[in-house]
Amino acid sequence: MSTPEPDDSPDPSLTCDTCRACCCQLEVILMGDDDVPRHLTRQDRWGGEVMRRLDDGWCVALDRDTQLCTIYERRPGVCRDFLMGGVECAEERAHLDASGRVIHLLRGPL
Ligand code: SF4
Ligand code: SF4
Repeated sequence: MSTPEPDDSPDPSLTCDTCRACCCQLEVILMGDDDVPRHLTRQDRWGGEVMRRLDDGWCVALDRDTQLCTIYERRPGVCRDFLMGGVECAEERAHLDASGRVIHLLRGPL
């Protein structure tokens, strides 16, 4: 008899419709095959290329009114791989307060 795998399936109750783009405050490191408009990127302290973020903590490519990605078709692989409802998504959403306001603005190095 085999040991059951831990349940890592996405939580269907966690959707982007009820989130304020929490994951778009994370540092997004670009990979070689990413095709992001260069004016939206910057070099980090180690010489790598990352998405720029503004003073409010969110990625520069996020539409502040709609909370949607303005470069969705060209978004980096890191963003494509981020699983809605997955473990990391749940962790980011845990930073929301009851009103849905993000409470960890300016997290991480800009
Ligand atoms: S943290 Fe999860 S629910 Fe929120 S925007 Fe990102 S993928 Fe969507
Ligand atoms: S590129 Fe788009 S999906 Fe990725 S962090 Fe920026 S706004 Fe979010």
